[in-house]
Amino acid sequence: MNVGIVGLGLIGGSLGLDLLALDANNYVWGISRNPETCKQAQAIASVNIASTNIADIPDRILDQTDIVVICTPIAAILPTIIAIAPKLGSNVIFTDVGSVKAAIVEPASKICQQYNQRFVGSHPMAGTAFQGILAAERNLFHNRPCVVTPNVDREAFEQAFEKVRSLWQSVGMNVYECSPEAHDRAVAMISHAPVIISASLVASCQQEDEDSILKLAQNLASSGFRDTSRVGGGNPELGRLMAEYNQSAILRSLYTYQQSLQKTIGLIEQKQWEELETFLANTQRDRNFYLD
Ligand code: NAP
Repeated sequence: MNVGIVGLGLIGGSLGLDLLALDANNYVWGISRNPETCKQAQAIASVNIASTNIADIPDRILDQTDIVVICTPIAAILPTIIAIAPKLGSNVIFTDVGSVKAAIVEPASKICQQYNQRFVGSHPMAGTAFQGILAAERNLFHNRPCVVTPNVDREAFEQAFEKVRSLWQSVGMNVYECSPEAHDRAVAMISHAPVIISASLVASCQQEDEDSILKLAQNLASSGFRDTSRVGGGNPELGRLMAEYNQSAILRSLYTYQQSLQKTIGLIEQKQWEELETFLANTQRDRNFYLD
């Protein structure tokens, strides 16, 4: 497979590492904003060739491209497709890795249609708290879920959809198929709202106004705090973009969470210890539905 990756950071860099390590027949070219990133991506064998400008990638390589994966921050996905689609042939399939889908899939499909190219949205659900090419790692995607959004015109897009599905399967992902809207509601519940909730937990600890208590809490914080604060301590730009581009679904989840928290506060205020234990027994049971 000949793959182009635009945006050589954690996700783009990790994808290139796996593609080149797993199959000697794969060829990966990359584009990133910063020349130093391009050099580093080549040095760690995440790409065969990389540049800040697609004009530097030889035509014979561009002509053989099967799939271009846009791995830039969410706000740059559509402008990037607009910039590079005219430079690629009509057989090319575009996909992306953005953590939101409804705001991307329809406009991206329209841009690609102008050049007779196909767009299929993706969201590989894998990440770490780090960013940039030096955070790229092998096997990041292994055994993790990946959403691929089929186009409404399923028949015309069948081949493109299957190619994108096999790209993600080739790096070990379990592929799920759903509409962009269903994706955005589901990830708001289990990924986007938790970032805001986890960040708010850290912010609320910082509101302690007695210095000695705050210092003590910081010294005593251990694995429980590490687990509950992890996603709130991730890439701030990514958190902002998730909220900005998935506003209605994230608000829906946060309002539901607010109601649940308010109800639980009520149980504690009213000393309803039996009810509180039942609530926690239910959440102990239900957590497994998400993680098993
Ligand atoms: P990242 O580590 O910051 O990587 C993005 C890279 O894109 C940057 O290193 C930057 O490299 C490059 N870039 C920025 N603007 C660009 C532009 N206009 N053109 C070309 N390259 C550009 O971020 P990431 O975590 O990989 O996230 C990338 C995408 O993956 C986002 O759309 C995000 O929604 C999605 N995603 C993230 C996660 C996660 O947990 N991190 C999980 C799933 C999906 P230089 O400026 O150094 O060249």
